[in-house]
Amino acid sequence: MSDTSAKGLHPRTRAVHHGTRRSQYGEMAEAIFLTQGFVYDSAEQAEARFQGTGPDEFIYARYGNPTSRMFEDRIAALEGTEDAFATASGMAAVNGALFALCAPGDHVVAARALFGSCLYVLELLAKFGVEVSYVDGADLDQWKAALRPGTKAVFFESVSNPTLEVVDLKAVSDLAHGAGALVVVDNVFATPVFSKAVELGADVVVYSATKHIDGGGRALAGVICGSRDYIRGTVEPYLKHTGGAISPFHSWIMLNGLTTMDLRVRAQADSALRIAQAMQGHPALSRVIYPGLPDHPQHGLAMAQMGSGGTMIALEVAAGKEAAFAALNRLGIVRISNNLGDAKSIVTHPATTTHQRLSDEEKAHLGITPGLLRLSVGLEDAQDLIADLNQALEG
Ligand SMILES: *Cc1c(COP(=O)(O)O)cnc(C)c1O
Repeated sequence: MSDTSAKGLHPRTRAVHHGTRRSQYGEMAEAIFLTQGFVYDSAEQAEARFQGTGPDEFIYARYGNPTSRMFEDRIAALEGTEDAFATASGMAAVNGALFALCAPGDHVVAARALFGSCLYVLELLAKFGVEVSYVDGADLDQWKAALRPGTKAVFFESVSNPTLEVVDLKAVSDLAHGAGALVVVDNVFATPVFSKAVELGADVVVYSATKHIDGGGRALAGVICGSRDYIRGTVEPYLKHTGGAISPFHSWIMLNGLTTMDLRVRAQADSALRIAQAMQGHPALSRVIYPGLPDHPQHGLAMAQMGSGGTMIALEVAAGKEAAFAALNRLGIVRISNNLGDAKSIVTHPATTTHQRLSDEEKAHLGITPGLLRLSVGLEDAQDLIADLNQALEG
């Protein structure tokens, strides 16, 4: 296996080479091992495999696969964790990270501003006897008040969807560790490129690889990054028996995604800053929320924590839902959809789509107003995107 971690190499080099396993043919590109199972040389070898596998030994694709292992090793090296487990989707990763860990009677503290399906997983945990307390992620006093000795885990999005609130990873991790809790972070909006989650104290980092890791909006996948003990001792048994395995083909797509991710995400974030600056003060907008703008309430924290404002912007159309819909319908380049991190720019109206399930009261509390739009900035020329947004907002 190609191991770049010990050589002090930079992330971009690791993203291209780390974890590559070559077969006896010496193929240059990563091979897709599209096989559900593996052949043993002897009955004794089969018996030994089932007693425990080594790093280059596989049993069944639901447990692990060489292509998927390459993806797991590569993303773990980038994130700075000992190991990783790849899953069929981001939600299989969130579900696996939390369900593998918790038992009835356990206590979890979670930020309120979460992706809708993540909230559903927390509701499921509660249904099975896990007590879940919700806090406003940016309010450290609420974290302090909710944590108690023996709290099992905290869970939050380091940058929240869709209102781009930044959670202070270091401060929340310190509080959580003080209570003996594991820190589980859904790090999609931060992206692996700008992530310093492990350095700041996260124990477990979860990604929907569907987003920036693929980068082309082609395939669903997820990954859980953490210590070897947690990944192989806690997560793997849960996922291998419950069936959230990633397809080797999707692992191959994600491996290819990782090789260009740094270039793509930095270019997207550069465009996002230019677009946010261009939208500031637009008469049709009541708010431009972008962590990379100095007027974002947590700008300093965002820059310290990520060194970038990221690839996502939230825009609030002052005149409300009808005007927001009219603007969406006038867009020519930016497409109306609900993915993010894609090469194609995408705009979403959270109140009526991704966050429709929330009550009006919860939407108002989270700042998901009728005029709010979430923009995922793609790889098009920023000038063209600015012109498209301007003509759509001017109507
Ligand atoms: C998309 C997303 C998920 C779920 O990922 P899937 O790959 O769609 O299952 C989870 N959390 C966040 C923050 C996301 O953006």
